[in-house]
Amino acid sequence: MAVQQLLRGARLVTHSSSLTSATVTTTAIARVKAANAYSAISLYSTSGMPQSFSHPAHHSATTNPSSALSKIESAVCFSRHPLSSPPASNPSSIPGSSLKEQYWRNVKVWEHVTESEFTSYKWQVSNTIDRRDKLSKFLSDVLPSKIPPRRQRQQSRSVETTISRDAFLIDVLDGMKIAPMSVRLTPHILSVVNWADPFNDPICRQFLPLKSTMKPDHPALTLDSLHETDDSPVPGLVHRYPEKVLFLATSVCPVYCRFCTRSYAVGSNTESVTKNSMKPTRKRWEAMFEYISTNPQIQDVVVSGGDSYYLSPDHLRMIGERLLAMPNIKRFRFATKGLAVNPTRILDRSDGWTDNFIQLSEKGRSMGKQVAMHTHFNHPNEIAWVTEEAARFLFARGVTVRNQSVLLHGVNDDLDTMSKLIRKLADLNIQPYYVYQGDLVRGVEDLRTPLSVILDLEKRIRGTIAGFMMPSFVVDLPGGGGKRLATSFESYDESTGVSTWKAPGVTGDEAFEYYDPIRSESA
Ligand code: SF4
Repeated sequence: MAVQQLLRGARLVTHSSSLTSATVTTTAIARVKAANAYSAISLYSTSGMPQSFSHPAHHSATTNPSSALSKIESAVCFSRHPLSSPPASNPSSIPGSSLKEQYWRNVKVWEHVTESEFTSYKWQVSNTIDRRDKLSKFLSDVLPSKIPPRRQRQQSRSVETTISRDAFLIDVLDGMKIAPMSVRLTPHILSVVNWADPFNDPICRQFLPLKSTMKPDHPALTLDSLHETDDSPVPGLVHRYPEKVLFLATSVCPVYCRFCTRSYAVGSNTESVTKNSMKPTRKRWEAMFEYISTNPQIQDVVVSGGDSYYLSPDHLRMIGERLLAMPNIKRFRFATKGLAVNPTRILDRSDGWTDNFIQLSEKGRSMGKQVAMHTHFNHPNEIAWVTEEAARFLFARGVTVRNQSVLLHGVNDDLDTMSKLIRKLADLNIQPYYVYQGDLVRGVEDLRTPLSVILDLEKRIRGTIAGFMMPSFVVDLPGGGGKRLATSFESYDESTGVSTWKAPGVTGDEAFEYYDPIRSESA
């Protein structure tokens, strides 16, 4: 209540301006017109697109023997959209184009890296940026001397004053002092950032903590806002839903996201947070297996962390085999951001992780059990041709892949970007499963959006794609109520930013509250 009272006096502003207004009609003719207008807006028009869509990495198609074939593939791919026609612009300007451009060569430090080097998993790991000194050196090498400042939507470029490279570096280092997550970035993800305009790049925004863009934390925020530790009968095993558990196998990931819900445990310690780390040890896992096998109501397991990509191939196999052998377990999924941030591992035949995953998937199928991969794309620019090939590789081998996005202000909280992301995933046979409302996490208030944004997006996107490819837009309730459809709130007062919720199947009559970010008019 104290927080509600505190909020009542606060001026809250929603981001409805980011959503294209659509004409709602009830006649068939008007619906067709609306569909055509929607198609033009959300798929191929370049007007109003985020700056990232003119990313130089997507302009410089290299001459490649496979280009002609890729262009045909691209055309076939576009012809599948019921609302679309082939793009009039150069296909290479579309993020994730099938053209096999060597996009990493746009990053100065990798301009001589060959395709075979870049697509080697070992090369990706050994060139991952995971220390402050490496990050400073990388940024010094790739940033221009003058950097455009962060723009608000609708702001014209003409009023900009640039920021020096040194000032940007200081901004990052100052942000790292406050951020709960350390920085770790793979070459793939670093290669899809537009380093000429990092303040406005939707990928950069997810990973680099910039002090100048941060907002004060919400007063209701706690480090473990979903109360996962409270719901853990065994360290590292969260049992919240009656028949499902979350198995935190490790606390390491291929990248660290600023907005990670599990910032209390994931990644190395930062200056502001000492982690409750989940080491990948057999001893810890045995206690978790014991709990699962002795609680027959548990049928479903999410193996996460951290990230399953950072399990060795042998550990991946061992965990999968143990779960398959339990009669009570009917299905499980390995959660990994790997496909989104380091897809080379899926294609690199010298690494055994993917083969072991496919074998587990096949063995599960033969036993009538589902073994799936849950991945995490947030923006269409994350999808390059390597990603597309990796996704097709998994699909051809019968692996079920689902995606869980997080709704992030300035990244994907506009209709155009979210629609494009969902369509691209669907075209790659990655099921767009969830879009999460941003959790209350330290140091990321600039990335959260009001509940009104997710409600508006859901309303506008539903009906534009097949129902089975329509993600559930959900809120993970602070305090441990679990995931609820965003539309299922009990009450929502946009003026205070407080919404109330119940989760009868999980926590009975208990009530939960979600809080919109506190915004000023200029945010
Ligand atoms: S990959 Fe997932 S677990 Fe890892 S930092 Fe990002 S959100 Fe957190």
